[in-house]
Parts: sequence; structure tokens; C-alpha cells
Amino acid sequence: MPDANGKFGPYGGRFVPETLMPVLDDVIEAYEEFRDDPAFRAEYEHLLRTYVGRPSPLTHAQRLSAHLGGAQIYLKREDLLHTGAHKINNALGQALLARRMGKRRIIAETGAGQHGVATATACALLGLECIIYMGTVDMARQAPNVFRMRLLGAEVRGVDSGTKTLKDAVNEAIRDWVSHPHDTYYIIGSALGPHPYPLMCRDFQSVIGKEAREQMLQQVGRLPDEVIACVGGGSNAIGIFYGFLHDEVKLIGVEAGGYGIESGKHAARFASQIENAKLKVEKEASDDPSQFSILNSQSPEGRVGVFQGMKTLVLQNADGQIAETHSISAGLDYAGVGPEHVLLREIGRAEYTFATDDEALAAFHALCRFEGIIPALESSHAVAEAIKRAPRYSREHILLVNLSGRGDKDLNTVMSQADRSAQSDR
Ligand SMILES: *Cc1c(COP(=O)(O)O)cnc(C)c1O
Repeated sequence: MPDANGKFGPYGGRFVPETLMPVLDDVIEAYEEFRDDPAFRAEYEHLLRTYVGRPSPLTHAQRLSAHLGGAQIYLKREDLLHTGAHKINNALGQALLARRMGKRRIIAETGAGQHGVATATACALLGLECIIYMGTVDMARQAPNVFRMRLLGAEVRGVDSGTKTLKDAVNEAIRDWVSHPHDTYYIIGSALGPHPYPLMCRDFQSVIGKEAREQMLQQVGRLPDEVIACVGGGSNAIGIFYGFLHDEVKLIGVEAGGYGIESGKHAARFASQIENAKLKVEKEASDDPSQFSILNSQSPEGRVGVFQGMKTLVLQNADGQIAETHSISAGLDYAGVGPEHVLLREIGRAEYTFATDDEALAAFHALCRFEGIIPALESSHAVAEAIKRAPRYSREHILLVNLSGRGDKDLNTVMSQADRSAQSDR
């Protein structure tokens, strides 16, 4: 549990404009009241069962495991949920909380549109007004999700300031919240933002780990040796990790390695620290340091800073500016990470690594071919790590991968990737 100020160790907390403090106080108070209220829990769990499609199954990836010739890989199938990913667990929980608080106007911001769709879905179900802020560049890139949100009755407001992407949409959503504090609730889509959001999101997502633990015991007769999940903001990872926090189970988060850490184009907030330190040692030992060009320029690296309401690890350039991130998967393409992950790494309870765009794509295709499952590109990063690890172990070793979402939304990206490699083959 975070402390009274919402800090996980030194991370997290509340760094917001003074006018938002009382609004956050209301959310904290309401959440503390309802999180243990049997009627609230019963309503949430009923909807998870009858609407979201929980429990999601646990699948033994038998052919993939046999192909790799080592550890057995199991998949927690969040891809089979309504709307196709784990985000609905959190959006629905927070929408229920908002309704209990008497707030009937919901705002949210979205980059790729996945959180916007989950929020619009929850609002339609509960009869709440829904306004989604989205950068106009993102709206053009993600037209089908804009259409989905509108079908679901949401108003999508284009944001034309700055780079016209996610961070500008966040600013606009906060501006809205400040000017409508009484009737409006802001749903944040990952284990991010000011207290109590990282805590709430973790609690709502922890159903993943709770189910997975029970299913492992029931179906396999024992716990996994390692649990692997991709980390964007960190919600699907913290959700599955929570089921195994007090067990002797290794917890592994996988960040977006983009074109590789040395390229500077990635979203690896943790791994960039380690990789840059390694490169620095190599550079100092080298006869020709000029070949380590990226370190001469501005190789972005995760450093502690205050970002979007919390203190956490943020990918920054050498001059302390928020770095531009890159990932083939929109859901992992983010400069900050949920504060609880920073603490889990610091105390050695979880470790964090990365998969590149190419490794994720290869894992995407492997899961399609060997298991008949088209995974989200985000989830493919976790699968990529399992593919790297499995051959190192015996057949008794068990890797549990959180398959956070399905890949239908990513078909265009994968198709254009295939076109590109076909062209370069010629
Ligand atoms: C949004 C998303 C993610 C990344 O978000 P987290 O908060 O890190 O879980 C991962 N997988 C899928 C399928 C997503 O839609």
C-alpha cells in the first residue's frame, strides 16, 4: 500500500495544481469508502462476470513451448475480454466509482484510442455522459477508434495544440476537470497520474493476477516460476504481478525497445539506464570512442522526475526535456511509468527488460502460427521475452505471460511492416 500521501517509497504522490487538490481528496475519500463496500464489490464483480467476460481463460501454449524446446509457456487471456484488452477492468471500475460519487459526466484522454474505447464502453453501459480528448494527429491515425467511440455515444474532442498527440490531450482533460470539478470525474487509463489513481488502477487490474494464480493451481497444480508482462504505463503488469507478489515467483516487466536502446528511439525507461551505462563503459574502454555516436548526442534515459501529477521514472534527454518515445505498439509508447513499478524494481521484487520492434513482430507471428492467437503488439513484447527465456530452461519450468490484448487493432501496422520488408527483399 502507498503511504498517506500516495507514495510508493519515494515515488508517486500528488503533483497537481492547487485547485485540483480538493477534487482528488474527494476521489480518495470515495475510493476508500467504496473499495471495501460489499455492495460496490458485488456490482463490479457481477459486471466483470456478465459483461466483461471474466474470468479470462488460462491457455497452455503447447505448440509454441514444444517448438522452443524448454520451459512451458502459459497465457493469461485478457485478449478474450469485451473490447479486446485488459483496459476495460479499470475503466469499468472507475466509471462505477464515478456513478457512486454522483458524477455523471466522465472525461478521459486517449492516444491510440484503446482507453477511449474502453471508457466510452463503460459509460454507455452505465448511462454516463462521456467526453474523450484526443490529439488531432492521433485522431487521423486512429480513425476506426474515433468512429467506435462515437458509435458508443461518446463525444470525441480534437486537441489542436502542441504536437496534437497524447500529452496535449492530457493537458486539455486536466483543464476541463479544473473548470468542472463538481459534476465531472476523470478516468485515467493506466497505473499512472496523481494519487489515488495508481492505487485504484492496480486494485481494479489485480483481478488478472488473482484469477491467474487460482487457475495455475487448479489447472497445473502449481505456481509459475516466472510471470512476464509488457509495461506501458504499467497497469496490466501490476495487475498480474499482484497475484504473485508474496510468492516465490519471478516478476518480469518488458518495455518497448523500439529500434534498439542505442538508436535512442524507444520507450525503455528502465532498460535505457542499464544499457546506456554499459555503452558508457564500452566507450571509455574503446580505442575509437567516436563510434559510440549516440552517447555524444542526446541518448534519452529514464530519470526520476515529476511528470503528469506523479514522481516517477521519465524518459528524458540529456538536457532534462521529456524525450520523444518510439514503439511499434502505441500502448507502450509513453515517456513515464507507473510509480509502483519504480519501487518494485528498486527493492528488487521485479526486474525490467525490453523487446525491440522486430522482436515483438517476430513474437506476434510466432503466436499466430503456433497457437492460432493474434496478439496485440503490446502483448507481443511479453511473448518475445518468453521466447528468449524458454529455451534456457527444462520442461518443468513454467513461464506465465499476460496476453494483455488482441491484435485486430494492429493489423494495419503489421501489414505495412510486411510491405516494407517485401520491398527491402527486392
Ligand atoms: C494500453 C495497452 C497496454 C499498455 O498499458 P499498460 O497500462 O502498461 O498495461 C498493453 N497492452 C494492451 C493490449 C493495451 O491496449
